[in-house]
Amino acid sequence: MPKALVTGSAGFIGYHLCKHLLAAGFDVIGFDAMTDYYDVRLKERRQANLLQSSGFRAVNDRLEADGVLMDLVAAEQPDFVVHLAGQAGVRYSIVEPRSYIDANIIGTFNLLEAVRATPVKHLLLASTSSAYGANTKMPYSETDKADTQMSFYAATKKSNEVMAHSYAHLYDIPTTMFRFFTVYGPWGRPDMALFKFTKAILNGDPIDVYNHGDMSRDFTYVTDLVRGIHLLLNAIPERLDDVPAPQVFDGDSLSPVAPHRIVNIGNGEPVQLMAFIEAIEGALGQPAAKNFMDMQPGDVPATWADGALLQKLTGYTPKTDVTTGVKAFVDWYRDYYDV
Ligand code: NAD
Repeated sequence: MPKALVTGSAGFIGYHLCKHLLAAGFDVIGFDAMTDYYDVRLKERRQANLLQSSGFRAVNDRLEADGVLMDLVAAEQPDFVVHLAGQAGVRYSIVEPRSYIDANIIGTFNLLEAVRATPVKHLLLASTSSAYGANTKMPYSETDKADTQMSFYAATKKSNEVMAHSYAHLYDIPTTMFRFFTVYGPWGRPDMALFKFTKAILNGDPIDVYNHGDMSRDFTYVTDLVRGIHLLLNAIPERLDDVPAPQVFDGDSLSPVAPHRIVNIGNGEPVQLMAFIEAIEGALGQPAAKNFMDMQPGDVPATWADGALLQKLTGYTPKTDVTTGVKAFVDWYRDYYDV
């Protein structure tokens, strides 16, 4: 039975990934500090659901705690490590930048050290479409230049990509960094638009529509995303010993000097914010009162994933359109909160 360590297992994506891997017969160790960035009860409920499966064990601790990840990886010897724990959120990074250093920089460093000491078949880490920064070339391709990060969140995630690359190179650690594009679905994050809009509309409150609605996002349904992660587990990057460095290698974004690769996971179809809001209104059967506002600092007007690399590596194609995905979220929300 393959064994996976999933950090951030009580988080939105981690929860869905653990469920998916358990259903596929994996033995899963979940690691999560249950931070209070948003409602801890939601994390406790997700973890309680996972604990109903005999293949799941939970370790509740902080990434940045001295020696914890080092000892855990040495004791468990997982085949795969999927690192999803971290401090997410563009806007919060403007208010509380320090927490991004602790969780994303020190936390990821501790994980890299743990995997250096105890090798695994494949290390996979979460990055973000925000790493593309002020890139305006559409769709976003892994080979695009990405060095103009617009928020401190994006800066720490881009740093994670660079840190992981150096470890992959120095210690031959097969590594994949995912760049996720606005993930949504049941059990979603309370700080994200779908959750906030649904809650506000049901309460009769207005919703804040940034950049006066002139935005688009490549919304990615969470069960599609975790299927993509599962497929990528076995697409293990190899070192290209015969490629002289330094050299731009734009064939499939594999590094010319390390077994390290960056892969977009998106839906491949940008949706206008106003169309997304219409899908929520349709699913709720209720119109939203709208507060049109300026663009928020740290934000970008559009995201769009080029999915060709993921498709080439795994055969993956997304399956869920926004109308279906939003309805699934709204059904979950109504059931969970009994509204
Ligand atoms: P989430 O906040 O729901 O999950 C993250 C989990 O990590 C939480 O359960 C939290 O308790 C845990 N955590 C945070 N700091 C920790 C620490 N110091 N030690 C141990 N655990 C800690 O977020 P998510 O939406 O599931 O995102 C998962 C990953 O994907 C994150 O790294 C995020 O930055 C990245 N990402 C998410 C999206 C998205 O749209 N949801 C998009 C791009 C990238």
